[in-house]
Amino acid sequence: VSAPIALDGTPGDAAKWRFVRRRAFAVFQSHGYVEVRPPSLEPAGTAARAGGEAAISVVGGGELRADPVASIAQLYVAHGGPMVSDRFARWMLAGSAYDPAPRGAARSRAWQAVAGLILGASDPAADAEIAALCEGVAADIGLDEPEVVIGSVGDAADLERYAAATAELGPLRCASCAASRDPLRFLSCEDEGCRALAASAPPLRASLGVAALKHHEAVLATLEASGFTVRDDPKLGFGAGRYNRTVVELRARGPSGEVFTVARGGRRDRLLEALGGKSLPAVGLTLGVVRAAACTPGDGESYQPACEVFFAARGSGGRAFALRAAAAERSRGFRVDVDLRPDKEAGWADQLRRAERVRARVVVVVGDVERKRGEVAIRDMQTRETRTIPEDTLPAELKRLLR
Ligand SMILES: [Zn+2]
Repeated sequence: VSAPIALDGTPGDAAKWRFVRRRAFAVFQSHGYVEVRPPSLEPAGTAARAGGEAAISVVGGGELRADPVASIAQLYVAHGGPMVSDRFARWMLAGSAYDPAPRGAARSRAWQAVAGLILGASDPAADAEIAALCEGVAADIGLDEPEVVIGSVGDAADLERYAAATAELGPLRCASCAASRDPLRFLSCEDEGCRALAASAPPLRASLGVAALKHHEAVLATLEASGFTVRDDPKLGFGAGRYNRTVVELRARGPSGEVFTVARGGRRDRLLEALGGKSLPAVGLTLGVVRAAACTPGDGESYQPACEVFFAARGSGGRAFALRAAAAERSRGFRVDVDLRPDKEAGWADQLRRAERVRARVVVVVGDVERKRGEVAIRDMQTRETRTIPEDTLPAELKRLLR
C-alpha cells in the first residue's frame, strides 16, 4: 500500500494541526529557540550528506527538504558563522518536509514539521534538554499517554561492533531495511519479520564503549536531577548515519490505540562538518505535526475557534445593518460571522442552526421589523434567553455578554 502524497487538511484537521503547530512552536520558543526559514528546496545531496536516505529530487536541480534539522544546519553553515559569535545557538523551523518513502499511519510524502537544533552544545545537558523539550511539548499539546524514550547509538566504533554482533540477522531483514543505508533501521521497522528480529537482537547498549556509556549516564543523571521522567531503553536505536550517542523518541497513543512516534531527535555532532561547515557539536529534534495531532484528543472541529457574535439577518436593510455592526465588533477584537444567505434560502431557523454549528456565543437577530423599530434581538446562546434592545445599545450589551 503506497502512502498518500499528502494528508488532506479539511477545516477540522487544519484547526487541530494549527493548534499543534502553534503550541509546539511556542514550547520551542520558551526554550530559547529562534525561528529561521531555510528554503524547502535544498542543494542536491543535502539529505544524504546529513546521514539520511536520498531525498526527492526536483527537475531543474536540488531536492525537497527531507530532514528539517539538516535544513537548519545548512542555513547555519551558509550564514551562521559570522552571525553567531559565541558559537552557541538554538535555531528552529516550522514548515514542510518531504519523505521519499513514508511508512505507517499518518505519514505522507509531504508532511509538516516543527524542528529545532542546538548548536555548539557538547555537554550532556544539551541531550537532556532535548528530552525535556519532548516532555514539554507533550504536556503542552495534551498528547494522549505520552512517553519519552531515550537511548544511545554510541560512537562510530560502537556501531561497527553492533553491526558485527548482529551480522547474522542481516539477510533476514525486510527489503526496505536491506536497501537502507541505516543498519539500525530494522530496530524500528514496522515489518513483522523485522519486529521479530528487533526483539531477538542483542541490546545496542551492550556494544557501547566507555566514552558513550559515560555520556549516556550523564544525560540520565541530569534528567533525573532536573525531575524529568524518561524511559531509558537499552534497545532504542535508529538513524545510524544521522545520530551519534543520544537518541530520543517521543511516543503517544494514536486514535485507534496504536503507539505513534511523534518526534525524534538526538545528538548530531557530525552534521555541520558533513554539510561543509566547521566541526560543531549539535543536538536536534523533529516533531511531526500531523502525527502529534493524531495523538491529541478531541475531533478537529473542537479546535476551531468559536464564533463570538453571529448576525442572523434578513432583508436588505437587516443585512446592511449587520455588515456595519459586524465591522464595528470586529474592530473591537471579536470573531464575528454574518449569515449572508439570501432570504429565500435561509429562514431564521436555518440561520440559528448555523449559529449553533459555529458555536456562536451571542446571536444578534435583525430583520425588517426590528429595523423599523430601531431595535435588534439579542440571544445569549448559553442561557438561551432572547431580549430585544435598542440598536444603539448593542455594542455595550455585547461587551457585557462577552466579557
Ligand atoms: Zn524492515
